[in-house]
Amino acid sequence: DTIKPGSGRANISTIVPGWFSEVSEMWPGEAHSLQVEKILFEGKSDFQDVLVFQSATYGKVLVLDGVIQLTERDECAYQEMISHLPLCSIPNPKRVLVIGGGDGGVLREVARHKSVEQIDICEIDKMVIDVAKQFFPDVAVGYDDPRVKLFVGDGAAFLRDVPEGFYDAVIVDSSDPVGPAQQLFEKPFFESLARALRPGGVVCTQAESIWLHMHIIQDIFAACKQTFKGSVNYAWTSVPTYPSGVIGFMLCSTEGPEVNFLEPVNPIEIVEDSNSEEDKKSRPLKYYNSQMHKAAFCLPQFARKALDAY
Ligand code: SAM
Repeated sequence: DTIKPGSGRANISTIVPGWFSEVSEMWPGEAHSLQVEKILFEGKSDFQDVLVFQSATYGKVLVLDGVIQLTERDECAYQEMISHLPLCSIPNPKRVLVIGGGDGGVLREVARHKSVEQIDICEIDKMVIDVAKQFFPDVAVGYDDPRVKLFVGDGAAFLRDVPEGFYDAVIVDSSDPVGPAQQLFEKPFFESLARALRPGGVVCTQAESIWLHMHIIQDIFAACKQTFKGSVNYAWTSVPTYPSGVIGFMLCSTEGPEVNFLEPVNPIEIVEDSNSEEDKKSRPLKYYNSQMHKAAFCLPQFARKALDAY
């Protein structure tokens, strides 16, 4: 068998028969593997290969272009952190935009915030949305919230048309910087993000792993420092099925009311501890709490040094 990085099916059986191995030029020389019980869906959209399989130990798995996007077992660590790190850092967020995130998990998390009145999402690939609704109902449940409005299209183009200062928060839940997501890691995109935010508004973007992509993180950090005149901080979380087991986020705020990402001012646990019937029905948080929030900004020495240079 020849291994074709970037192709969903080609990554099955090429290393260990019956296992999915995540082979990619983005992490040469390593390939995390999961045992496959059953392939549930294989398709090719206008943008990428889409694969869903039942794994032996991580529940159902969504794969785009050969790269794991989420598993039922550990998606909480990503979705909760990418959403609550920004939204718990500002008081009363009202208008929120999600770019990417077609699976709906970030919507599910944003919807926990009662102050939020409008949740827009711009996902490029309708097949991801349909597949999430069919195979990942506990994730796609985010679409059921009446505040959600879906736009199917390119997030960078969508953002260019947003009125200046419109959103309190933008969450960029993108895939890696190859294919349709590439432009979501570049300076012109960060500039339109800053333009779309109100003064003191916040953005949280998927920002890769400190073990694999420090140079990409440095580039994002430098571009964000030039673009956002408030705070710029890198945070990370543990996601066992992502390459190297960790993934990071760049948190930035625009000039205006000061945002200190390290000291959350809008704790979500208030909802957790509530006695109201409505709150009791909602899915409890599995990963995020205020201590994890603060800890997420502590960096190992090598990463701290790499970013201190900017
Ligand atoms: N939420 C997931 C998790 O739990 O780990 C992570 C990734 S999410 C599925 C990434 C999404 O970004 C994909 O559905 C992809 O189609 C979308 N995407 C990539 N480029 C995009 C663009 N330019 N505009 C909008 N969405 C884009």
